[in-house]
Amino acid sequence: MRRRKTAIFFLVFGICLCILAVALNVGWILLNLREVVLLVIGIVFFALIITGLILNTIFLVREIRRSEQHDAFLNSVTHELKTPIASIKLYLETLKRRDVEPERRSEFYDIMLADTDRLLNTVEQVLSAGRAGEKKRQMNVEKLELGAVLGSAVEIVRSRYHLDETVIRLTEPPNDLSILGDEGDLRTVFVNLLDNAVKYSKTDTKISIRAKKRAMNKRVDILIRDNGIGIPSPELKRIFKRFYRVPNETAKETKGTGLGLAIVRSIIEKHGGRIKADSKGEGRGSTFVVQLPLV
Ligand code: ADP
Repeated sequence: MRRRKTAIFFLVFGICLCILAVALNVGWILLNLREVVLLVIGIVFFALIITGLILNTIFLVREIRRSEQHDAFLNSVTHELKTPIASIKLYLETLKRRDVEPERRSEFYDIMLADTDRLLNTVEQVLSAGRAGEKKRQMNVEKLELGAVLGSAVEIVRSRYHLDETVIRLTEPPNDLSILGDEGDLRTVFVNLLDNAVKYSKTDTKISIRAKKRAMNKRVDILIRDNGIGIPSPELKRIFKRFYRVPNETAKETKGTGLGLAIVRSIIEKHGGRIKADSKGEGRGSTFVVQLPLV
């Protein structure tokens, strides 16, 4: 809130300075109509001052917005780390204090394992975001069958959320779809996209993933489509920025760090590909298209 007030203050301050500069310039013109040289110098200085002011204001507003996003990120990461730890602690204390029946005990172990998975997942995301920032990171590039990479990503997400086979439908791509890339990184891409598709869908989730050859077999488009909450069109580009989360109720209720898509985009670009998001609007599902070069 305080930051917002500071932003408004600097915006008003910038606008006042612009008005002052315009007044100065008009006065200058009136006083020096005949002195053309001075007039020209005045106009040039005026243009310089105005440009400087505008750049300064844009910079300030951007910095404030970024720092707001950092705060939100820290909050969500802390929350993501604290909740599973608190849950594991509770179950361990119960197991220590009481004599729990074997059936319940095994149920407790399952919950604790799911919590450790969640912890590992968060730590892995933060680490990958750091790694994605390194320009010269070594990639373990090899020839990969796209079908196998997609298949393993689907399996990981299915078991993470204990999903029915019918929730995620993978249209098996033909065998000749080979790509050059780092298997671990590419799996991270599709796991992240499928994970989001599950997270941002409310009821009766249906997700499809399929590959289509493009540009005379030089490229492949992989489409991941869901019938979830959708994305408003002004947000379609912003969601790929680090720490950015769409400011709506579902995002607040859903756990996340705003890092997933930034990691995804960085990996795809390192593989010479592109990614874009499409959605007909809120409540109407989303489609993510990943384009990669074929071997
Ligand atoms: P996180 O999921 O951790 O918040 P991401 O970078 O993966 O971070 O996603 C950024 C934002 O994009 C999400 O907070 C969400 O608002 C939006 N988003 C991503 N995928 C989807 C999807 N399949 N459907 C609707 N919204 C999505």
